[in-house]
Amino acid sequence: MTPALLPTSIVGSLPKPSWLAEPETLWSPWKLEGAALIEGKQDAMRIAVQEQTRRGIDIIGDGEQTRQHFVTTFIEHLDGVDFAQRRTVRIRDRYDASVPTVVGAVHRERPVFVDDAAFLRASTDRPIKWTLPGPMTMVDTLYDAHYRSREKLAWEFATILNQEARELEAAGVDIIQFDEPAFNVFLDEVKDWGVAALERACEGLRAETAVHICYGYGIKANTDWKATLGSQWRHYEESFPLLQRSAVDIVSLECHHSRVPLELVELVRGKKVMLGAIDVADTTVETPEEVADTLRRALAYVDADKLVPSTNCGMAPFPREVALRKLSALSAGAAILREELADARV
Ligand SMILES: [Zn+2]
Repeated sequence: MTPALLPTSIVGSLPKPSWLAEPETLWSPWKLEGAALIEGKQDAMRIAVQEQTRRGIDIIGDGEQTRQHFVTTFIEHLDGVDFAQRRTVRIRDRYDASVPTVVGAVHRERPVFVDDAAFLRASTDRPIKWTLPGPMTMVDTLYDAHYRSREKLAWEFATILNQEARELEAAGVDIIQFDEPAFNVFLDEVKDWGVAALERACEGLRAETAVHICYGYGIKANTDWKATLGSQWRHYEESFPLLQRSAVDIVSLECHHSRVPLELVELVRGKKVMLGAIDVADTTVETPEEVADTLRRALAYVDADKLVPSTNCGMAPFPREVALRKLSALSAGAAILREELADARV
């Protein structure tokens, strides 16, 4: 049963089994193909569900066992993007990457993740969350030779994401999460059109909607970037007031071991907050007390009935055992605080 207070959740990815993709490697190619790949992904989802359940996670995700990359796997299924035409562009204003090219009007011919989400729905009685890339982060992962406007392309993607989200909702998904790490980089665009595009993606949904904004996985390009950001990371200060006024229900942020001043959480007061209490850039497993301490400090800025203990970001690059132990630490830490809150009430 889902606890009324502090339901735990992961942001997105978990390590993949070695028979599905190379372990401890980000964006590792599939080891299977065709029908074997579909079955392999489903088996991996079964394991992800079982491990999350066994380790006390309340809101269940697919552990991103169904995708190779959190952005491009979705884009691969769209018309208008040529994956053979590669261009090198600067991603997140941080590192150069070879990316596909937008060559015509973008269009979703058929659902992308809906069958996978239906499989997840059938695998657990707990609430389920499905992650999609956010419009701005999608734009930032492509070379656009057609629209030649980040805003226009984002708007097209938002429409497509909304179609997909509505079908995910119909398949029984309780929370639809959009990953927008680009919101911590392009602060002017967030104001100009980023939040509006995100709201377009969420339009008309009865399922809860979430946006995840972080400082990235623990890869070198990200840790190098973080080293340049100074003693206080205040990027959320720009986006949170806009999100507080937006239609998005849940804001997911990075917290533990990051230099984000915790008081910035106050800026989304009234929204649910998925608070990162697990570091995804360090293999050291948090103690339950550390997790509880992070959550306890956050309670000054978020109402207890709106706090969702979570990870900072995805855990795909970790050794499996580390990721699983971190799941246990997360739920044990949440349990400590849940008990404290119950004691305070009697
Ligand atoms: Zn993230």
